[in-house]
Amino acid sequence: VSLATSTDKATSAERKVGPAMARGALCRCPHCGEGRLFRAYLKVVDQCDVCGEEFHMHRADDLPPYVAIFIVGHLLVGVMLHLDMVWKAAPMVYLSVLLPLAIILPMLMLPSIKGSIVGLQWAMRMHGFAGRSGEKMGQ
Ligand SMILES: [Zn+2]
Repeated sequence: VSLATSTDKATSAERKVGPAMARGALCRCPHCGEGRLFRAYLKVVDQCDVCGEEFHMHRADDLPPYVAIFIVGHLLVGVMLHLDMVWKAAPMVYLSVLLPLAIILPMLMLPSIKGSIVGLQWAMRMHGFAGRSGEKMGQ
């Protein structure tokens, strides 16, 4: 007699990290790639509308902003060096170009970064994705 539940079957299936992260980066469900992953700007849906996969147990926490700052910081250092070394730009040009970019670029990137991190956690069965469906871990 098998005591395996549908949850056990779902958690024992192979989950490929690359496709799950790519689907998450497109703000789609890491499992089916069709349902929406976010119900608001950065609010992850509790459950996929299409396949029913649960996402309320994700723990992306501070990693998405960390990754966004890391990427944007490196981009803007390049822009800043270019402004200084090639165009000899005035200080007001730095303020008018770099400040808006430092605010807008992370905001544009955050949903895709958070989606790919939720996809990574889902594929690797990290945190609440390890099993015990329905048990909320954190937020
Ligand atoms: Zn789905």
